[in-house]
Amino acid sequence: MELAEYLRAHRERQLEELATFAAFPSVSALDEHRQDLLACAGWLEQHLAGLGLDNVQLLEAGGNPVAYGEWLGAGSDAPTILVYGHYDVQPADPFELWTTPPFTPTVRDGAMFARGISDNKGPIFAALAGIGSTLAAEGRLACNVKVIVEGEEELRSDRLDALIDRRRDLLAADLLVNTDGAFLAPGQPSVPVGLRGMVAIELTLTTAAGDLHSGLFGGVVPNALHALTQLLATLRAPDGRVLVDGFYDGVLPVPEAELAAWAALPLDDADIRAQAGVPALMGGPEPSTLERQWSQPTLDLNGVWGGFQGQGVKTVIPAQGHAKLSCRLVPGQRMDEVLARVITHLERHTRDGAQLRIVSTLEGTPPMVMPADHPAVTAARTALTAGFGREAVLCRLGVSVPVNEIVDRHLGIPAVQLASSSPTDAFHAPDEHFTLASFDAGVRTMAEFLPAYAAAHRG
Ligand SMILES: [Zn+2]
Repeated sequence: MELAEYLRAHRERQLEELATFAAFPSVSALDEHRQDLLACAGWLEQHLAGLGLDNVQLLEAGGNPVAYGEWLGAGSDAPTILVYGHYDVQPADPFELWTTPPFTPTVRDGAMFARGISDNKGPIFAALAGIGSTLAAEGRLACNVKVIVEGEEELRSDRLDALIDRRRDLLAADLLVNTDGAFLAPGQPSVPVGLRGMVAIELTLTTAAGDLHSGLFGGVVPNALHALTQLLATLRAPDGRVLVDGFYDGVLPVPEAELAAWAALPLDDADIRAQAGVPALMGGPEPSTLERQWSQPTLDLNGVWGGFQGQGVKTVIPAQGHAKLSCRLVPGQRMDEVLARVITHLERHTRDGAQLRIVSTLEGTPPMVMPADHPAVTAARTALTAGFGREAVLCRLGVSVPVNEIVDRHLGIPAVQLASSSPTDAFHAPDEHFTLASFDAGVRTMAEFLPAYAAAHRG
């Protein structure tokens, strides 16, 4: 049977299965849903077997299991892809803002509404449907395929990290195909070839052994909150440029061809202002907004606290001030170097009479970059263009994708994003939805990706 014919004949059944999948309240952040996560994993196990995958099992990760299946019939000359998605979802509250209950999947206005339907149950289900339908219609796949669907993505995949390390042999592949994430603009397929990394610091500044009376000592002793805010103000210029010595050292320039592609993207400052819900953007005009968002590093204060915050007035001179800050890193920067430079800056700019203590540092995720002409990128563009009927564009993302880095670190393979969600799908918000057009396109995209990547891999 032709694949297109198979998909037409089985579309209703597949959408019903997607609704069953989305009805599990698999909220990983809440202990009360532990059984729902296990039930959802069990359903997935059956589903993977039903698609014709072999060696289907639940991999114990210490927390919520990872559903695994494989099809290795393409032969040793064909590449092996590791397809990734997650079955856990964000909490659904506030429940009263949902038009229909979050775990009663409902189709209206050409979309299915449910918590987690777009992040990431719909996209991973569609990718699996592309694999299973091809297998059913054609009896084989152009690539060897391994599938992992985890249950702790919304908890930052810590246990997946250890699991992949332990199961390197089982999970060995040439490429991670990550179905999580969203396009740049609704219905506009995009392939990110760069991701920012992240480091963080918490610090405390102390100016006295204890809080002091501002009448008795005001004017003669330093105030920890003034010392702290003055110190923090030295980190960044008003336009956002980071003033730490050597902060931009090593930052790789973006290839001209990529910059030209960004300029042509259907995304302007007004869109980004609207997405963020802010009256004005910071910085610019050079580097451009997209460069600042995707290929420039940042430093942001995430929290500043200290002193008296209760009701009324307390005339105190605080002895301590605290702050948390984080940096987004770009290709060419190293996490340890950036942390060291920011700490050196903080030490140098701490005034006499104040004591700086670095409470903690975090090396979160390193930045990642993929050559725009990598076979996986070429194949993803071909597949998305065919699947969505619209030219897929190259972009970068300002965020980090931990699983890409985890897989790179343990399996030594690159990752490509094969998303099918749109930024307007209400990720993590009430009335989250996944359009049926995205579903159909997502199924076709994976079916197209397998032969496209097999061909690109052969060169
Ligand atoms: Zn997700």
